[in-house]
Amino acid sequence: MTNPQEEQLLEVARRLLPLLSTVLNRKDAHALSTTLQGLLERGADGENVEAELRAALGRHGKVKNTRDRYLRAAAAEGGEQFNLVPVPSPPGPIAPIVWVCPHGDVEWPQFHVGEKVPSCKQHKCRLVLKDERS
Ligand SMILES: [Zn+2]
Repeated sequence: MTNPQEEQLLEVARRLLPLLSTVLNRKDAHALSTTLQGLLERGADGENVEAELRAALGRHGKVKNTRDRYLRAAAAEGGEQFNLVPVPSPPGPIAPIVWVCPHGDVEWPQFHVGEKVPSCKQHKCRLVLKDERS
């Protein structure tokens, strides 16, 4: 059985996987994504990977910050219904603004107004607001 904390970390890992290329260089992103995918598979098989997940997600400063933001958001939501997919309507107070690459490969949730929005490393372009993408 997974405990709630491990479940949250697994969810964070799932959410972070597609974002890694926005916060890490290609080599680190590849290495971490391989590690996370392995841990997710083992977690899905019922193995307790909480400690390893926490360590893997804490290895790089920017990933660690994102992990901590997710965990805070989860705590604010009461943990159990941890779900960072923006709710369609009406947006709750902690629903993040989601920025996306116009080419569709990157999604980046912004939790704080002052936070600097990253660019897509793959396409060297600015992310746009998801809702404004047609
Ligand atoms: Zn892109």
